[in-house]
Amino acid sequence: MIQISNLKKAFGDHVVLKDISIQIDKGCVVAMIGPSGSGKSTLLRCLNLLTVPDQGSVRIGERHFDFDSKNGKKTRLPKDKELAGFRARTGMVFQHFNLFPHMTALENVMEGMVTVLRTPKAEARTKALALLQKVGLADRAGMYPQKLSGGQKQRIAIARALAMQPDVMLFDEATSALDPELVGEVLNVIRSLAADGMTMILVTHEIAFAREVADQVVFMRDGVVVEAGPPSQVIDNPQQAATQAFLARFN
Ligand code: ATP
Ligand code: MG
Repeated sequence: MIQISNLKKAFGDHVVLKDISIQIDKGCVVAMIGPSGSGKSTLLRCLNLLTVPDQGSVRIGERHFDFDSKNGKKTRLPKDKELAGFRARTGMVFQHFNLFPHMTALENVMEGMVTVLRTPKAEARTKALALLQKVGLADRAGMYPQKLSGGQKQRIAIARALAMQPDVMLFDEATSALDPELVGEVLNVIRSLAADGMTMILVTHEIAFAREVADQVVFMRDGVVVEAGPPSQVIDNPQQAATQAFLARFN
């Protein structure tokens, strides 16, 4: 289970997250929607401590961090080892794929298993091949990223994140940078992960996909959760004027 409690984050005077609380049950898929600048990426980054929250707490499975800054002191980041352990609980997939360009698809997927999880190479190779198979790219194992399409690169990025056996997968607009004809193959992989029961948070502008795959939809604006609930509520029957106005753009 993931529990985000009273999370706050400011950059200088700009308060980007204002007291965010969200609970996500194991196996649930949450779609996060909202206008540009509403704090969606910042919230995802706070979940794996790429950004350190100012206040509040985050629980992912067994791990829990409190960020309440005492007496105005800055939040202390956990020690490197603890931090790496925490980060490995989340698999992050970005808009741009960030694959290692000098490694093949297979080596990209193996890398974290070998260096972080200390999986023996032969075992990592077997697991990586299975993951490439899962994302439909077993036949591209030996290819370098520059020879692959955007959709293929993104699917390898997903396989690479899955290789770390995360408790939750975080997708930040994973299809936004793709040519329209390549979006479907990436959404298909996310669909199959949802069917497998993977806990996921998807920041997405694909409203139809959010309706289809999400158990919960969270609408954010200006660092606040305006409305949250099942898609039948938040997407099909939004109660707040801000949600209605945002969704009207997609009709
Ligand atoms: P988009 O849909 O455009 O991706 P978003 O909802 O993901 O938007 P964020 O990227 O979380 O929004 O940004 C929220 C606000 O925080 C923005 O105003 C942004 O400029 C600001 N911000 C984000 N990161 C930083 C940073 N490292 N330093 C200063 N300001 C930042
Ligand atoms: Mg963003």
